[in-house]
Formats: sequence, structure tokens, C-alpha cells
Amino acid sequence: MQTAKEFAESNRDNLLRDLKRLVDINSIKAEPEEGAPYGPGVKAAEEEAFRIAKELGFEKTVDCDGRIGYAHSGSEDRFLGVIGHLDVVPVGDGWDSDPFDMYEKEGYVMGRGTGDDKGPLLAAMYACKYLFDNKIPLRYGIRVLLGCDEECGMSDLEYYIENYPEPVFAFTPDAGFPVGHGEKGIYHADLVSTPIKDGKILSISGGMASNVVPDRCTFTVDGRYADALRAAAEGRDGYAFSEEDGKVTVTASGKAAHAGYPWGSVNANLQAVSLLLDSGILEGEEKKAAEFVSGVMSDVDGGFLGIAAEDGRFERNSIIGGMISITEDGRLCLNVNSRYNTAIPAEQIEKNISDKAAEFGFEVRNVGNSGPFYLEPDSPAVKLMCDIFNSVTGRDDKPFVMSGGTYARMMHNAVSFGCEIPGEEGPEWVGTAHMKNEGQSIDILVKSVEIYAQTLMKLQEVDF
Ligand SMILES: [Zn+2]
Repeated sequence: MQTAKEFAESNRDNLLRDLKRLVDINSIKAEPEEGAPYGPGVKAAEEEAFRIAKELGFEKTVDCDGRIGYAHSGSEDRFLGVIGHLDVVPVGDGWDSDPFDMYEKEGYVMGRGTGDDKGPLLAAMYACKYLFDNKIPLRYGIRVLLGCDEECGMSDLEYYIENYPEPVFAFTPDAGFPVGHGEKGIYHADLVSTPIKDGKILSISGGMASNVVPDRCTFTVDGRYADALRAAAEGRDGYAFSEEDGKVTVTASGKAAHAGYPWGSVNANLQAVSLLLDSGILEGEEKKAAEFVSGVMSDVDGGFLGIAAEDGRFERNSIIGGMISITEDGRLCLNVNSRYNTAIPAEQIEKNISDKAAEFGFEVRNVGNSGPFYLEPDSPAVKLMCDIFNSVTGRDDKPFVMSGGTYARMMHNAVSFGCEIPGEEGPEWVGTAHMKNEGQSIDILVKSVEIYAQTLMKLQEVDF
């Protein structure tokens, strides 16, 4: 029998040939069309993945109303799952080549989706071929889920879980090795004040995304308050003033960070609001509203909102105010994003924040809340997967928990598993996930085939 390593290495060129078939399809989410709820590009990628799955020897492929697809072999009663995604994020500027024309360069394949997530997903599909080719008896069936909406909210997997049976255990090749055995809960919402009459803040705008501590926030007030603001800014870095048409505009700068790791960042929204407060120009309900949002942003551990906690498994809880604005009807609006551990239940997080907001006359809108998951690091599957990764790579890595969210959090028994390797990020000209010039190490892809093949084989022996 061929070893998994021999199989992976001898299929290197086939893997790259098929990866190009997927990467060359622009599968950025787009306007829905008939049978293609995430747009025609995503649909075309799904159809190409089905063709590849058939060529690799999967018994069947099933399209779930264009939302997600799967390739399956073996028992449909009890089966293992692998879930990756075919949708990609927009390309952005600054690419050195066509993001949808994959090519090979010095050990890397370049193109949007090579690393996130078409490459890792295809590596897992090839791993299945190893089991099929070598007639490995399947105690559990194998289902590879082809996600179509991972990057914009995971409505694809939500749809699947509502309508189809879940795997007994699953992994998602959409993060890093060795094994992500836990993910913090993610809560986000808009905290919105009552309409403020005759407020001094004419406009305020900071942040582009809920999950990033912003490094820039701009507000405008009447020009007569310029002196008070300049006085408050005296001796403090990070404020730029401009005056025009009787108005003064202040741009506050900060230091950006991901919402999961806000410690050490400087929130530009907070810089802006605290300057307004310190200048003494705010009054009444506007002042009260500013004090509330300032309080929220000042305490990234969440103490102000009553959600600070540690659980000994994850890092302590965090919360940031990623976006600030004034609504059309004159309400101050702060979008918050919290990453929380298992110390406080998900419902209690929501309640504590709502209660505190209500005290200040704020209401909570547009809540999204997805609780944490945590599998014990010494559970049989996690241990087995970590051991296989370490034996293939000669490393001694330990399973990890994270603040980011993968598909794993939505399933009852799942982890993230590859295929980035810590410390092997590659040269500077290779972009990472979501960045320009996205690239993927071919060596890591080939090793991933080997790791996934061994894993899918060994998982057959674990009792789920
Ligand atoms: Zn991804």
C-alpha cells in the first residue's frame, strides 16, 4: 500500500492543476441570481469543485440550494466532516498579477483563495482520494462540505445545519496547525442613544469594521469651539485640526488592532470622544451619551459593561468600539465587538450589556451573538490530530484556542485544523489571507494532504 506521504508527493502536480481550476474562478460574493444565492462566481466554483470531487472518486455530490454543497462517500448515517469554503474576499489594490490567474513562483502558488481557502480545502479532498484509492474501510462516511458564504457571515453552514445531518466530528482546514480546539464567543451590536437635540457634534465618523480597533476618527463641530478643543488637545499627540466654512474638523489618530487582541491598541474613536469631553463643550444628554461610549471604550476588558471575566482556558474577555457615527435622526451610535470566554454564558453577556446601556438611555440594536466552543485538548480526536501534525512535521506544537471565528464554532463537535504553520509565513512578497498577493506554500499544501489523509484514516478508529 502506498503511504500517505508517497501519495501526497506523487499528486503534487495534480493538486496544483486542480487548484488552478478553482482559483481562476472569481468567487467573490455578488448579487444573487436564480439558483446562485451568493452570485454566479461562487456557483461556478461550486460546480467546478463538484467536477473535481467526482474525478477524485467521491461517490456523490449534492448541491444544497446553492448555499453550500458537499461531496460524500460511505455511510450517510454516521460520517466525518471536513468543511472549507470556496468564496473569497474582494481583491483590493496593489496586486502584482491577476488575482484570478493562479501561477507558481518559487515554491508558492499565487492568487486569491490559494490559502483562504481553496488550497487547504482541495488538500483535504485529495486526502480523501488517498483513502478511496487504497480502499481504506470507512467505519464513518466522509463528507467534504464546500462552503459558499464563509467570508460574509457563514449563512451557508447555518443553512446546512438547519436542513441536513451534522457530521459526528468535523474539522475545518481554514486556520492554522496544529489544532484550534476552542474559540471565544463573539458578540457585536450597535449601542444607540436617544435622539440628541441641539447637539454640538455635527458629525462623527470613525472605523470601517466592527472587528478592528480603528486608527482614525473624524468629527466636526461649530468653529466657535475650536479654541476649547485646541486647548484640550494641548500636549497630547494624535489630533489634527482643520477649519473651513465656520466649522472645525478634528481627526484623531490611534493604533489599530484586531478586536480579539485590543490590549496595547489606541482606539481613535475613544481619542475623539475624550477630546470632546475634555474640551467641556458637550452638555446635557449629549454629554451623558459621550460619557457612556467613552466608558465602554476605555475598558477593553469589559468591566464598564459588567462582562469582564477570566476562565483559565482562553484569554480574558475583551470589547472594543470599532465604529462610531451619528444616525440620521441624531442618535450617537457605537458599534461594539466583544470576544468572550466560557466564564459568563452567552445570554448573560447580552443581558449585562443591555442593562448597562439602558442605564445610560442607550438601546441595543443589530445584535449578533455566537457563543464560545471548547473541546478538551486531551480529547481523543484533538490529541490524535495534534500528534499526526507533529509526527509529519517533526514539531512539538500544542493545540491552541483563539479569538477569531471559524466554521468549527457552529457545529456541535468540530475543530479547526490547518493549514498555516506557525513560523512558516513565507517571504515578504507572499501575501496572507485577505491581503494583496495572496499566496500559499506548495510544500505546506502537499504536507497537508499527508496530514489530512492520515487523520481521516485514524479518525475512523475513534469512537464518536
Ligand atoms: Zn477562510
